[in-house]
Amino acid sequence: MTENSLKKYREKRNFEKTPEPFTSEKISPDKPRFVVQKHNASKLHYDFRLEVNGVLKSWAIPKGPSTDPGQKRLAVPTEDHPIDYIDFEGIIPEGNYGAGTVIVWDTGTYRNLSEKDGHKINMEESINKGHVDIWLEGHKLKGGYALIRTGKGNRKFWLLLKKKDEKADIVKDILIDRPESVLSGRTIEDIL
Ligand code: MN
Repeated sequence: MTENSLKKYREKRNFEKTPEPFTSEKISPDKPRFVVQKHNASKLHYDFRLEVNGVLKSWAIPKGPSTDPGQKRLAVPTEDHPIDYIDFEGIIPEGNYGAGTVIVWDTGTYRNLSEKDGHKINMEESINKGHVDIWLEGHKLKGGYALIRTGKGNRKFWLLLKKKDEKADIVKDILIDRPESVLSGRTIEDIL
């Protein structure tokens, strides 16, 4: 199942030319993890990924995540990534898919809070249903977040939003305050 869901990821890339990981070996032994990668590709964006059943379920967030519950951020689903992508930082060379600099902007563990009719449901089911409720324990992102599929027919899209809780912050812009990698302390500009 894992191998099959990585087909798209692998088809888009030439692993002789990109330093990006190929495999899903670094599976978390206990709590599932998330990562937000800042990716300075042709257009700067943030990639939000959740460890689910041996892969990283992925969404591109053009404007990045927010700590303000009033800010709904568009989230564009992208292909599943291998687990080993979770700590990938570096430069995808010119001419390759997603060429540009990647840093691990935030990472940590998450808890699945998703429910349906008052019962807990697993991550795969909540993603299929288009309503994911999670609690993030990151270095930067903390508290409740939701990923919600909305719209109709061909006009369906996902939104990432901060839930209203004690971790919400409507004042601070975390993307500006904390631009650095949580792994290396480097910013995109440091690597360019
Ligand atoms: Mn990306």
